[in-house]
Amino acid sequence: MLERFFNTYRTKSEYGALSDSEIKAFVTAEYTLYLDTYMGGAEGKTGAFSFQFNMLMEKTVKVIRFIIDELKNSAFDVEDTELDFPNDIHSYSYILPDGHEIRIRGKVDRVDSSVQDNEKYIRIIDYKSKSESKGFSLTEAYYGLDLQMLIYLIAITRNGGYRYGDFKPGGVLYSNVLFGQFSEKEAKGKTTDDLIRDAFKLEGLYVDDERLSIADKNNFKPQSSTKVTPEELQTVFGKVDLLIREMGESLYSGIIPAQPLKIGSKTTCEYCAYEDACSYNMNEPKINAFAAVRSKKREHILAQMKEDVDAANESEVNGDA
Ligand code: SF4
Repeated sequence: MLERFFNTYRTKSEYGALSDSEIKAFVTAEYTLYLDTYMGGAEGKTGAFSFQFNMLMEKTVKVIRFIIDELKNSAFDVEDTELDFPNDIHSYSYILPDGHEIRIRGKVDRVDSSVQDNEKYIRIIDYKSKSESKGFSLTEAYYGLDLQMLIYLIAITRNGGYRYGDFKPGGVLYSNVLFGQFSEKEAKGKTTDDLIRDAFKLEGLYVDDERLSIADKNNFKPQSSTKVTPEELQTVFGKVDLLIREMGESLYSGIIPAQPLKIGSKTTCEYCAYEDACSYNMNEPKINAFAAVRSKKREHILAQMKEDVDAANESEVNGDA
């Protein structure tokens, strides 16, 4: 839906001028087309179905309105939606010391760009529609978790010149497009729109550059975001390369250990489809078998990443790799 929306209204002046009723007309036409094409039309559907269908349309109108508002009030505009690796742009690639190449395919929901103080920046946006965004955690990235968006940003930074020209990576931001339930405490004194707008606010990892404003400040959550200097971002990229290299070497050598982690009260096995067949997971007591990831301060994690990257570079120079 969002891809079709931005393919229809391509410029900020076009989508920025839309009224709520125009957005609603677009959404209704798209949903009706989908209903007719894939679900046999509205005829014969139950009242409950129609109710849910209308609710979904209303939510979609709100999501689009909030996205437009953020874009209108930020310096960024949409460059691409549903950017596909490798069909639209070369994928992330890493050549292992033994010559094997690791390539990672995928799609980015949205790529935005902005020229600020004569410098072009790219930010990438991930719409969270299945689970709520929990912000960005450098600690988790250090342990190889939630690397997807970082990997896409690396691929765009390294391979996106022919598509976007000269630019600097600005960050990766998550946007909830899923409205869950709100607690009474959260809801106190707020309208439904306030609550949804709060839930929608962007958060993630961004570059701390005084020339760069990463998002509209009214639609951004700095407290659940991580800022890094351009140099620190390169260190994070280097650490991601190392993690991919370790994973690739381990896979090609046939060593694929189960190393699930525990983060707070959750484990990395939570969404695994093989839980029933996994011998590791059958170990009792399960909780004791998981290595715990403890959140550490940004400075500590960045220093550790730098140490790892420097050590790997040194060993490459010495021919140890
Ligand atoms: S259940 Fe087993 S296979 Fe699945 S993530 Fe956990 S350890 Fe890995």
